Amino acid sequence: MLDNTQVERLEAEAVNSAKVRQPLYAARKKVFPKRASGSFRRFKWLVMAITLGIYYLTPWLRWDRGPFAPDQAVLLDVANRRFYFFFIEIWPQEFYYVAGLLVMAGVGLFLITSTVGRAWCGYTCPQTVWVDLFLVVERAIEGDRNARMKLDAGPWTARKLVLRVSKHAIWLVIGAATGGAWIFYFADAPTLAGEIFTGTAAPVAYITIAVLTATTYTFGGLMREQVCTYMCPWPRIQAAMLDENSLTVTYNDWRGEPRSRHAKKVIAAGQPVGDCVDCNACVAVCPMGIDIRDGQQLECITCALCIDACDGVMDKLGREHGLISYATLSDYNANMMLATAGGSGSVNPSLVRTADGLFSDKVAHFHIRKIFRPRTYVYMGLWSLIGLGLLYSLLTRDRLEVNVLHDRNPQFVTLSDGSIRNGYTVKLLNMIPEPRTIVVTLQGLEGAEMSVVGIDHPAGRSVPISVEPDRLKMLKVFVRQPAGQIQGTAQTFKFRAEDKASFESDEYTATFNAPEIAR
Ligand code: SF4
Ligand code: SF4
Repeated sequence: MLDNTQVERLEAEAVNSAKVRQPLYAARKKVFPKRASGSFRRFKWLVMAITLGIYYLTPWLRWDRGPFAPDQAVLLDVANRRFYFFFIEIWPQEFYYVAGLLVMAGVGLFLITSTVGRAWCGYTCPQTVWVDLFLVVERAIEGDRNARMKLDAGPWTARKLVLRVSKHAIWLVIGAATGGAWIFYFADAPTLAGEIFTGTAAPVAYITIAVLTATTYTFGGLMREQVCTYMCPWPRIQAAMLDENSLTVTYNDWRGEPRSRHAKKVIAAGQPVGDCVDCNACVAVCPMGIDIRDGQQLECITCALCIDACDGVMDKLGREHGLISYATLSDYNANMMLATAGGSGSVNPSLVRTADGLFSDKVAHFHIRKIFRPRTYVYMGLWSLIGLGLLYSLLTRDRLEVNVLHDRNPQFVTLSDGSIRNGYTVKLLNMIPEPRTIVVTLQGLEGAEMSVVGIDHPAGRSVPISVEPDRLKMLKVFVRQPAGQIQGTAQTFKFRAEDKASFESDEYTATFNAPEIAR
């Protein structure tokens, strides 16, 4: 038997031992994006104005639906289970329209991502838009990048306190306005606004505003780029949607490298030099705090502000725009092959230029036809098909419906004269914002008559029913058939509902039950 010292000791260490363990938590490095200017920045201002305008103003738009329906253009009326969108009114059983719109939004997102990458993230995602808005406030109060960095690093003074309190107060007001606007989509906006300011609104309204104020302030003001990097699943999903012909914001190192701040010296030494002057302007404007020159990154939301920054630098240097540009992977790879002489060496930007300094004809540039490829045709076709289907269904849908439930217990009743009576619950849906008279008629079931509980009308084969606008009317109906005319234990017949004024109608096939003995 061996003693302890004779057992061989192997050289091994747990990969997660305390000695080698890396902290999973990395403290956030603050990002102080510099103000950018250029065509993409202007486009983003425009998108921001449109999206925020739509969000904040839509609940205040009015739409006349007559005296029997709300006049708010867009309203999710939860209490009455209706969704109003301008001239469209959706009932709960028509929720497939909303589902269809969501599917269209999903396919549209696939289409956009496969063509122009994460354009949704960079331009229209609420997180991007609100962070942009919060940054506008921050810059207006604390100044641009350098001033903000100086203020942040400096000691707490009365000035810093005033600036910080002002900034956070305005952020909270924006948050409250965002939460406030949201609840206006669920009730009449002017009425609810009055109730909120007089303290008479329902508690749920104040709770919703408080929650949305807190989330808007936290996500847009405090967490900013961390929401995109750590919380949003979209950066992970989008990788599966991009292909070599998708446009993404790209640093064209085939013309930018080797970068140098001393181009003249490098050229004098006979070394190749690229267009990048290593000024870091692209890094300074990036709201995600990354360097696009490090290649494609999950953090990049393709906001294109680095394109604006770099184009500004190229203007000053008298060089072509597009050192950072929207480019496809296939074009980028082709140009890299050109700049590295088929991949045999490091980048030599002189290989992509002619002797007079212009770009060679062999340099690949994006062409709009790259957007039109089988994959995008499929997305476009699918999107259009769903859209046309929804539109057709919307234009041809019935606004009058009849639904019938047969009484389960008893299935039938034998009356003293031998006739058989069945009971039904008939639901009439008047889906227009006008009152109307709907005539309910029995079709088939020879000799039968119906009577409607609570309706003062003699029993017969037709009964006119007044239905309120935009309402479902539930009727208790008894159908009676004389014993001599019963044709079987289960006869089918129809309840027909018709609006004689508009000629709209609907039918429901029901069953009339009778005992064997009655035949
Ligand atoms: S790298 Fe450029 S495109 Fe990407 S997030 Fe930063 S600024 Fe926007
Ligand atoms: S802005 Fe353009 S030139 Fe300046 S570091 Fe970025 S890529 Fe290079």
